[in-house]
Amino acid sequence: MTVGGVAAASGDQEIIAWFEGVAENAGLVQRQTLRRIIELNHSTEYLQKWLGRDLRVQDLDPVALESLFTSSVPLATHADHEPYIQRIADGDTSPLLTQEPITMLSLRLVPIVPVTSYNGTLKYLVCYSPPNELHRLFPVRAGGRILEFIYSSKQFQTKGGLTVGTATTHYFASEEFKTRQQSTESFVCSPHEVIAGGDYNQSTYCHLLLGLAFCDQVDVIASTFAYSIVQAFTSFEELWEELCEDLREGTLGTKITSPKMRRAVMDCLTPNPSLASKIEKKCRELEESNWSNLIPKLWPNVKYIYSIMTGSMQPYLRQLRRYAGDSALVCADYGSTESWIGVNLEPSDPPETVTFTVIPSFSYFEFIPLYTRKEQDHSSSVVTDDFVEGEPLPLSQVKVGQQYEVVLTTFTGLYRYRLGDVVEVAGFYRGAPKLTFICRRKLILTVNIDKNTERDLQIVVEKGSSLLSQTRAELVDFTSHADLAVHPGHYVIYWEIRGKADDSVLNLCSREMDAAFTDHGYVVSRKTGSIGPLELRIVESGTFRRILDYCIGNGAALSQFKTPRCTTNQVLLRILDRCTVKIFWSTAYG
Ligand code: AMP
Repeated sequence: MTVGGVAAASGDQEIIAWFEGVAENAGLVQRQTLRRIIELNHSTEYLQKWLGRDLRVQDLDPVALESLFTSSVPLATHADHEPYIQRIADGDTSPLLTQEPITMLSLRLVPIVPVTSYNGTLKYLVCYSPPNELHRLFPVRAGGRILEFIYSSKQFQTKGGLTVGTATTHYFASEEFKTRQQSTESFVCSPHEVIAGGDYNQSTYCHLLLGLAFCDQVDVIASTFAYSIVQAFTSFEELWEELCEDLREGTLGTKITSPKMRRAVMDCLTPNPSLASKIEKKCRELEESNWSNLIPKLWPNVKYIYSIMTGSMQPYLRQLRRYAGDSALVCADYGSTESWIGVNLEPSDPPETVTFTVIPSFSYFEFIPLYTRKEQDHSSSVVTDDFVEGEPLPLSQVKVGQQYEVVLTTFTGLYRYRLGDVVEVAGFYRGAPKLTFICRRKLILTVNIDKNTERDLQIVVEKGSSLLSQTRAELVDFTSHADLAVHPGHYVIYWEIRGKADDSVLNLCSREMDAAFTDHGYVVSRKTGSIGPLELRIVESGTFRRILDYCIGNGAALSQFKTPRCTTNQVLLRILDRCTVKIFWSTAYG
């Protein structure tokens, strides 16, 4: 089989040899990957605009082609690609971005290729076979099951007949996924009707019910992003009695209204009074202990929990660990709707230190060096709001310890596309960089000269909420808002907490967070009073659930849901303000 210009094979040994070769010769493979992308697509409108009509790919060696490409095609954002994508969505069938017609788009209007072509096949080979150590470290049983909290959202057609949906929804609808679901090695608990049920509350209930019904067989608990697992077990705390009742009787409560889902779940259930009583007893004990160790107690054979736990999922680790006890947490790979990027080759690494090895045949990658103003001494740099940017570098030239923004050129027709993710190079696996995910680049909190990213906010909230460990409370979720409607403007941070925290502790939390913003602009503005004291608003239990419901109602999919860490959305702000139960101001500063 030839994939992305690289021969891939089906036997384990061949896959290892292939992978080692690709990693060893990362620079060369990158040039071959770029060459393949250009060979396939050089007669498209987009590439002809920048590379001209007369390009003869075969006349250029890979180094010359790479140099021509990076000097002629400009760095671009989604906005630069969007007019082309819109034309494709409207039915323009001429080759605009890719020679082969694009048939699927994500909700963010990003072209998607079927998973079984280039990236998907490669990812499958790398992630589900050696050299990924997962199976050696955590062997699962033949006939074992995965309790997977995954959800499709709606798909619809554009004017031009393209199918639009989230990337995961397209994947869950694919033949590859259906085959995987039925494979004996990774038998999931829930039938497809549950995943595609369309109502995430009903799907979560059924995932949990079937997870309990097959509890002894479950080897792995998984989701796309860790949020979905935490969300499911939080629901479990409220649903367990109902679930046990259904388990006992082999029935489904009236809440499950989708006939297809009902039928499919009922087909998997038989009355099981003894299991129901056993689970009920365990749940009573778990309730007493704040649901700590829920996973190993109810699913005693679980070997590991598998999900994206890095980046914006890190704030959920505390809750996840409470449920997971000593069960291993294995970080899933790093990718996006635009392209898969890197895989976790060391599954035993904890989420705090995990790295992702870039697979050089997934896409053609470039890296824009990002410096703080103090660090930079490069005359050719571009000064932006948040960082000073150096010249984009090919993958083979990145340096350990340096942060970069990822730029992609993909088989799906994105050219020098700024992904907006900030990563740091932690080392190399042979010639392939190992990346630590840092954050989305976008600034979220800013009043005047202050600039904070999602990562800055995450660190501040982590510091503030660590004081909650003095009490029996735990942070459930958070978001923020830069309030410019009053003078001086100031930051509002919303927390939903579980358990009880004294006002004196919450007061301290607000001060701790105010003092924890290290951005120079913020520090100066706070000292001069051009930014007012930080406001910590405690919202009532269930507020973030309402936010999730609102976002899902507006087309977001639970499988790819990320709580907005800062919002100017008036509906969300109204929900947050209506649900605020206490306010704390950080009056003392510096
Ligand atoms: P989506 O829009 O749902 O395709 O999400 C893609 C984005 O999720 C990426 O651009 C990253 O910002 C984030 N992401 C994906 N995988 C990871 C990961 N392993 N760690 C941290 N963030 C990730």
